[in-house]
Amino acid sequence: MAAVIIDGKQVAAQMREELKQEVARLQAQGVIPGLGVILVGADPASASYVAAKEKACAEAGIYSDDNRLPADISQDELIALVERMNRDPRIHGILVQLPLPKHIDEDAVIGAISPEKDVDGFTPANMGRLVIGQPCYMPCTPHGVVQLLARSGVTISGAHVVVVGRSNIVGKPVANMLLQKREHANATVTICHTGTRNMAEFTRQADILIVAAGRPGTITADMVKEGAAVIDVGVNRVADPTRKAGFRLVGDVDFDGVKAKASLITPVPGGVGPMTITMLMVNTVESANRFCACGRT
Ligand code: NAP
Repeated sequence: MAAVIIDGKQVAAQMREELKQEVARLQAQGVIPGLGVILVGADPASASYVAAKEKACAEAGIYSDDNRLPADISQDELIALVERMNRDPRIHGILVQLPLPKHIDEDAVIGAISPEKDVDGFTPANMGRLVIGQPCYMPCTPHGVVQLLARSGVTISGAHVVVVGRSNIVGKPVANMLLQKREHANATVTICHTGTRNMAEFTRQADILIVAAGRPGTITADMVKEGAAVIDVGVNRVADPTRKAGFRLVGDVDFDGVKAKASLITPVPGGVGPMTITMLMVNTVESANRFCACGRT
């Protein structure tokens, strides 16, 4: 069986169209959703992520307050900026692009973001709410993964989901989201990591396999059950002298081998990636809606 390729670009484009209508509805009520963006230093990958986020915001009609800060900014100054954004009524979501320079404690900066504006969903308060099933901002990449599954018609309830990776930004939140007793969830969830013995025994049981390991070739065809839905979150650069840039992007899954066995699979690039920025905007607009409902904009 050849897998259906889940087109993340198309799903993301559809969601962005839906979002434009929501933004227009808010604008008609005098509310412009706003995202505060903080980029520290000049790391090219971070700069290009932030530029893509700002472009997407502009296209959706979301105001973005862009702050490019020097790499030697102090932690106190950075936290002071976050606190100013917490108080700024034009800003409904705050994005601090990670990683931060080594002299800054990332946990302290993320912890300074008001949970009500934590549209990345990284604060301990949001993560705690996610785990206990309370309303919260879902971290963007896991939120995008769930949307891809739901919009591709994959039945999650009752499925055995195996997640490879336990990071705080992908593995743990996606596992906890799919575990909840609600729509687009209610799965039996197994999490694998580098301490897992004989990982293939687990991945071969997966109806839905979500891979976020950050290593090319982590999952090969022999590790996948016939007919499984496979979501590849990994983004890895591998040398490719035929490309102008000298590299190409690949996921964590051996795409060509696994697509012959899976029922659905995401490509890299063009799968999960386009969803991440889209979900950041979805969360920002949701926050604007909440502030609007509270009469606080
Ligand atoms: P991370 O913090 O490095 O975590 C990787 C996780 O995978 C760890 O829990 C690690 O286990 C586990 N792991 C690594 N190799 C493994 C192996 N061979 N077998 C089993 N488990 C293994 O990475 P991350 O931030 O979650 O990101 C994962 C990947 O997703 C990266 O390629 C990243 O670039 C990509 N990503 C993409 C997006 C997007 O928008 N598309 C967003 C975020 C991340 P231990 O805990 O035991 O070390």
